[in-house]
Amino acid sequence: MKFWFVTGSQFLYGEETLRQVEEDSKIIVDGLKLPFPVEYKLTIKTAAEVEKVIKEANFDDECAGIITFCHTFSPSKMWINGLAKLQKPWLHFHTQFNESIPNEEIDMDYMNLHQSAHGDREHGFIGARMRTPRRIVAGHWMDAKVQEKIAEWQRAAVGAMFSRNLKIVRFGDNMREVAVTEGDKVETQIVMGWQVNTWPVGDLVEEMNKVTDADIDALVKEYASLYDYDEKDIDVIRYQAREEIAIERILVREGAHAFTNTFEDLHGMRQLPGLATQHLMSKGYGYGGEGDWKTAGMTAIVKAMYPDGATSFMEDYTYDYKHQLILGAHMLEVCPTVAADKPRIEVHHLGIGGKEPPARIVFEGREGDAVAASLVDMGGRLRLIVQELECVKPFQDMPNLPVARVMWKPAPDFITGIECWILAGGAHHTTLSFNATTDVLRDFARIMGIEFVSINKNTDFHSLEKELMMGDIIWR
Ligand code: MN
Repeated sequence: MKFWFVTGSQFLYGEETLRQVEEDSKIIVDGLKLPFPVEYKLTIKTAAEVEKVIKEANFDDECAGIITFCHTFSPSKMWINGLAKLQKPWLHFHTQFNESIPNEEIDMDYMNLHQSAHGDREHGFIGARMRTPRRIVAGHWMDAKVQEKIAEWQRAAVGAMFSRNLKIVRFGDNMREVAVTEGDKVETQIVMGWQVNTWPVGDLVEEMNKVTDADIDALVKEYASLYDYDEKDIDVIRYQAREEIAIERILVREGAHAFTNTFEDLHGMRQLPGLATQHLMSKGYGYGGEGDWKTAGMTAIVKAMYPDGATSFMEDYTYDYKHQLILGAHMLEVCPTVAADKPRIEVHHLGIGGKEPPARIVFEGREGDAVAASLVDMGGRLRLIVQELECVKPFQDMPNLPVARVMWKPAPDFITGIECWILAGGAHHTTLSFNATTDVLRDFARIMGIEFVSINKNTDFHSLEKELMMGDIIWR
């Protein structure tokens, strides 16, 4: 994925100024140290050029977004017909070539060349007037904090491109009677681009039967390099390898990057996939338990934004009111990318699903700032709720807990945080990420055109209550 840099100008100031504008633009682009490359495209002088470059951006699968900057004044009526066709994420970079105003050199030529304070206001107006969603970043281009903001938007834009091509395979339906994991798949495809479809568990079992011992040997060797385990559990581990290979073959065949299953539909399978699902998540696949395709999709998207990051499917499980902490886990499926130390494969009885004891990866989660994201269907619209968390080292060993565990304190404080989450309708399933931030996911929601609810260190319960009421009017 790459980004296109388009500079706004016009013919009014003469060829010499246009040459300088182009030269400065290339220097700015070269000076940006970002996670995804930026390519200088052109300096706009006419409406035809705007329309052409935007059409090209729309049809280029590798272009994840456009960055615009008006070095000089660029009359915005000439941008209207092009911007009306824009289908890619847009960042308006309100910068200036020089950081400071010089004393002796400044004259009217200098003023006409370095007038983004003036030209970018014209550019900003047309974005506002056309109600075109865009991220605005102001500041000098050499400033690391400014570049960090562009980097955040790039992550969001890459996530948006990934979302528009995302396919999710569901093995079985939702867990019976559960509401929050349900949703309008047609609406979600229209808004988010996700293709969410179902495959029979019987097809998965057939695929599992095709897996050879040699295939399993190779995957178990990989497990051995990553995780500790007891040799007595090897048969159970090999069965998980068989499940993993079969699931991945179906995902690859379908071009899917996320999947769901449910313990209520494991017909013909001996174990609920635990280790299998966890290892697939560590390779970048999204997952949601109990048929939760919305969390599977969000987890895949955040993993695409941060390919080497620490992101997992998560579930808020148990509270410690005394220590003001949440214990998160799942019956099996937590991604080992969020582990603090080398994880261990263990085999334990699983009380639900009525199957054989499955192998699963057990570990303690890492410490640090994180976010939990939950996409819920409010009826006619999707709401993305993002809460800031402080993950901590679990204060107890919990030696009899047979699953991976993460412990955290939600923002703004434990009680307000959980009250706000409940008020907003946030699910028990989330995407937990140590890399994604509120700003990245807000940018993502803006690009996708969905409601965004942030619960952060400044959140006040009653203000949030009003914001949600306003949202019901705005997003109806
Ligand atoms: Mn669950």
